[in-house]
Amino acid sequence: MCSGRVDLTFVLRAFSNGMDGVFIGGCRLNECNYSTHGNYDALNMVLLCKRIMEHIGLNPERLRIEFMSSAEGILFAEVMGEFGKKVKELGPLGKGEGIDQYELKSKLEEITKLVPYIKVMQNEKLASRLKDPEEYDKLFTRDEIDKLFSEVISYYIDPEKCEACMTCAKRCPVEAIISAKNQVHVIDQEKCIKCGTCFEACPPRFGAVAKISGEPVPPPIPEERRTIVRKSKVKIKKEN
Ligand code: SF4
Ligand code: SF4
Repeated sequence: MCSGRVDLTFVLRAFSNGMDGVFIGGCRLNECNYSTHGNYDALNMVLLCKRIMEHIGLNPERLRIEFMSSAEGILFAEVMGEFGKKVKELGPLGKGEGIDQYELKSKLEEITKLVPYIKVMQNEKLASRLKDPEEYDKLFTRDEIDKLFSEVISYYIDPEKCEACMTCAKRCPVEAIISAKNQVHVIDQEKCIKCGTCFEACPPRFGAVAKISGEPVPPPIPEERRTIVRKSKVKIKKEN
């Protein structure tokens, strides 16, 4: 219904499924039927995706967005013809760029897993409204995107600080936190989408969730050592 609904994951999925090119058609900018102006969201997503494609070695011309009205059939036919020709010139996805198919598949999988993180980190720019096409190239820079991937943030619960209040587990959107009463909580790094909610949610008096960048996440505390012995209970037991 709206080009703004075309998520970054849809484009990456198309490439993961072997599509050689992706075309997104949206209504003309500033002619959106809704107050949301989702075509600006689509434009920003495409500009970001093109940089990501460059980062993994794909030619960004394999992705194109154009804005036109439903009355512009001739323009649509021209644009599609031109795009089809371009994609043919570029050749099969990956082969045209000299990237090994297995390597490309694993890169696309890795990037797809990071989409929620990418969106959180680029939130403000993704919401911007560029009026001048000359600004398009500057919205996301190559250096910025390279840095984004070289400094990916991970979240880790410090077992020494966690008080098992369960707040983080209740707020995690993907149930990535292994949680039980009176048990040190542990983040399942495979499931974590790096949204940072647990970091924000952990009460400051505990401050148990750490942000880690540029170094490996410590291994999870073994299950048999996760039980928290409350000092007050120990005291009560001793007094009895
Ligand atoms: S960052 Fe925290 S809240 Fe977000 S998915 Fe990972 S574990 Fe869950
Ligand atoms: S919110 Fe903090 S203290 Fe509470 S369970 Fe999560 S990591 Fe532990």
